[in-house]
Amino acid sequence: MVSKSRFALLAIDQGTTSTRAILFSDRGKVLSVRQKELTLLCPRKGWVEQNPEAIWNDMLRVSREAIRDAQNADLTIAAIGITNQRETTLIWDRKTGRPVYNAIVWQDRRTADDCEKLKSAGHEQNFIEKTGLLIDPYFSATKIAWILDHVPGVRARAENGDLAFGTIDTFLLWRLTGGKVHATDITNASRTMLYDIVRQQWDDDLIRLFNIPAAVLPDVKANVADFGQTAPDLFGASYAVGGMAGDQHAALIGQACFESGMIKATYGTGCFALMNIGTDFATSKNRLITTVGYRINGDTYYAVEGSIFNAGTAIQWLRDNLGLLVDAQQSESAALSVPDSNEVYFVPAFTGLGAPYWQPQARAAIIGLSRESHSAHIIRAALEAQAYQSRDLMEAMAADCGSESRSPESCVLRIDGGMAGNAFMCQFLADMINRVVEVPVVQESTAWGAAALAGLQSNVFMDLTDISSSWSCMRRYQPAMDASKRHMLYAGWKNAVKRVLR
Ligand code: ADP
Repeated sequence: MVSKSRFALLAIDQGTTSTRAILFSDRGKVLSVRQKELTLLCPRKGWVEQNPEAIWNDMLRVSREAIRDAQNADLTIAAIGITNQRETTLIWDRKTGRPVYNAIVWQDRRTADDCEKLKSAGHEQNFIEKTGLLIDPYFSATKIAWILDHVPGVRARAENGDLAFGTIDTFLLWRLTGGKVHATDITNASRTMLYDIVRQQWDDDLIRLFNIPAAVLPDVKANVADFGQTAPDLFGASYAVGGMAGDQHAALIGQACFESGMIKATYGTGCFALMNIGTDFATSKNRLITTVGYRINGDTYYAVEGSIFNAGTAIQWLRDNLGLLVDAQQSESAALSVPDSNEVYFVPAFTGLGAPYWQPQARAAIIGLSRESHSAHIIRAALEAQAYQSRDLMEAMAADCGSESRSPESCVLRIDGGMAGNAFMCQFLADMINRVVEVPVVQESTAWGAAALAGLQSNVFMDLTDISSSWSCMRRYQPAMDASKRHMLYAGWKNAVKRVLR
């Protein structure tokens, strides 16, 4: 760990499957990575929870290790940036700091029926126009309402002002500042279904519709801001928290997608593609969502987003539930051991289908099995599914862009996340979406985005061009599949999806 610079930036990246603390140089070079795996709890079908104390303890442990790494290398941490799994919902007691219930994870589908009721009552258009979102259990609002309605005594305590709501960023910030700061950033707020992203404030009508006491809501700040100082007893010294953004937004920043039309996609547990659409809010006509990309220096940039709920989950499932893989990496050689998937399609709708289908009730399926099918075909189909799902999103984005904007066909796709390390998946993706796919040198785009935000606040960086100039490409995948094959394979996917829609 050698660095010529005196300053380092610490990113806390609290993800769905792990909590990490990553130390970056002021050039965006990764100096140290500390990581702890996080357990998902699935107490019932469709329910997904996490233990908030595990999240907090893991964060403390990895942050302390990374701070020690900085000290050993004689580096000063200029500021901390936080990025997090979005929408995951917590409510805690303001006096004790103790959560009243587990964190309800973004993948949780327990509020699917509540969402159906809201849709049937004709509310969806209102949500689209104010929040940019569609009504879905994915977002925080129905999860908050569920905790208020199902955990004994919680509603009364919330109405008394004794409880605080937060996504993971807010919970960590609250505890990091010793309970002094109850705040989120605009990107995390924009995922709650309670925040008007056009007027950029909590929306009273939506809050009332969910019967959520306004007293539980955090302050909302820009992505580069003074988020407070860490309590001195935690790390032996106090550090400024200078940047915060939801994971996908942080990745948009880390991938330097600052121009309208630029797209990044992160392939982790889920897959999330965000296209920067500039400073004008616009709703999607193709069942994508609009979200705040980032707000920096008084300018709010919007993004169109396609969310795929299950990407890497398919590989995890093949490894853990079917025992077909020893580890995720092995999926690459398995996929390459067969010339094609032998017409097997794997629709990984384990927790429903996200954009552009929005079918919380759909469930996964492996379709097209024949007597010749074996495990390599299924593994290959699981990887190919990521490309098909991405194509679904890219088509919707292209249709949304219309003719006035720069055509997304002319853009490359910048990708990151655990699955971006799978060369077979990347090439098949380039082939299926018929555009160049780029993997950056700094593959920790999400953490780097958070660090970059902290760097802007602490004057390590002057402006966004400093961040753009630190981006460089490590691997570029050129589309190489002929059009007729691409169309035929994709038609097979569309057919497979039809079979799981309810
Ligand atoms: P998250 O941030 O959502 O926790 P990561 O970006 O760390 O996720 O990616 C982890 C996911 O990616 C897991 O679901 C894992 O199965 C999958 N994954 C990791 N490496 C590979 C690989 N080489 N090939 C295929 N899938 C992979």
